[in-house]
Amino acid sequence: MDENSRALYDRALSVAPGGVNSSVRAIHPYPFFVERGDGAHVIDADGNRYLDCVMGYGPLLLGHDLPERVQSAIQREAAAGPMYGAPTEREVELAEFVTRHVPSVEMLRFVNSGTEATVSAVRLARAATGREKIVVMQGGYHGAQESTLVAGEGHHTTPSSPGIPESFAEHTITVPFNDAEYARGVFENHGSEIAAVLTEPMLGNTGIVHPVDGYHETLRELCDTYGSLLIFDEVITGFRVGGLQCAQGALGVDPDLTTFGKIVGGGFPVGAIGGRTELIEQFTPSGEVFQSGTFSGHPVTMAAGLETLRYVADEDVYEQVNALGQEVREGLTDVVADRAPEYTVVGRDSMFKLIFTRDGATDERHCTAGCRQDEDCSRFEHCPKDGADVGRADTERWERLFWPAMKAQGVFLTPNQFESQFLSAAHTEADVETLLDAYREAL
Ligand SMILES: *Cc1c(COP(=O)(O)O)cnc(C)c1O
Repeated sequence: MDENSRALYDRALSVAPGGVNSSVRAIHPYPFFVERGDGAHVIDADGNRYLDCVMGYGPLLLGHDLPERVQSAIQREAAAGPMYGAPTEREVELAEFVTRHVPSVEMLRFVNSGTEATVSAVRLARAATGREKIVVMQGGYHGAQESTLVAGEGHHTTPSSPGIPESFAEHTITVPFNDAEYARGVFENHGSEIAAVLTEPMLGNTGIVHPVDGYHETLRELCDTYGSLLIFDEVITGFRVGGLQCAQGALGVDPDLTTFGKIVGGGFPVGAIGGRTELIEQFTPSGEVFQSGTFSGHPVTMAAGLETLRYVADEDVYEQVNALGQEVREGLTDVVADRAPEYTVVGRDSMFKLIFTRDGATDERHCTAGCRQDEDCSRFEHCPKDGADVGRADTERWERLFWPAMKAQGVFLTPNQFESQFLSAAHTEADVETLLDAYREAL
């Protein structure tokens, strides 16, 4: 039964391009329209209930029912008035919280989306170094920003969307994730022109691909040698992987700048650029690099983000959700050993994905809870190392057969091979069982 969603989509097609406000939501043949959330579930306009492993594409660490103290913080703030065009205590408190926990961040500027954060971070890096080129990973995602929407390899890049001048792509060099030698070559030829390397700590929008040992250390060393900045885009991994210290803490690598989004706004629109004081102070008004926004540091967002993170810290939420993630990845490893030994289980903490790799079959499987790029593993050569490897998976089967089969069993996954699945504090052991049964059935 999906008449209501169908009728809503019919109306939406007349007033919104593709019937949606973010392209990835245009699921075939049409998306279900959500009526409300309920813990780890969503209920659609026809009353269908889905176990939700999308979690808003990452922002929802606590699921759909916010704890009482988070709800009342949001309601208190909204009731006091929506926003002011003047600072509030909430933004100072959230900034204090982030700087206390994230190793490389001493100061930050809040904005309204992950896109806005990466745009401002790139502008800051270019200004701080007086250089124009940036290096990004193939298959990396940094939002809808002109400098990173590029296709191609090395500096043979072109814009990946119409409407972006060719000249923008000239300043962007793409490299394959996890290929230290390739990055070294790029720096040997262009090091003095490179303002920054911008990378996700793990590819979260194409994969998930975990870094091989030493990859980020190589990027760190190259940036130091050539005077370039290392920017970690932690919009997905921030406060999701590595707990409150984020992925950089878990990986033990300090970037110069970090972009945040998603979880740090507690489910409301948010972004942030963090880093050392001497860099972040180059933003206006303390510095010259223009950065401003009507809604930046929005009081309701700040209250939601702050109370979410405080709750997470007080209630050991990471212990709980990461243990569930471990269970899911272990369970999936068993399911694929049985059903599809060529497939690869990936992910870390509360992120997971099953990559439909075509040639991953070997007798033994080293990893039991998600690929960590272990060089001693018998599958090391087969497991995806970069965006192109993920692209070579059986992406059509994933999208056209597997996703609908999961939906038919009441499980809502991100609708393609590339984007991560997420768990939340609202997911239960019973949900994990339901989920694994559905995978077993659908594979
Ligand atoms: C989601 C995401 C973005 C973009 O954030 P928006 O809030 O959608 O603009 C940027 N980088 C990464 C790594 C993301 O996952």
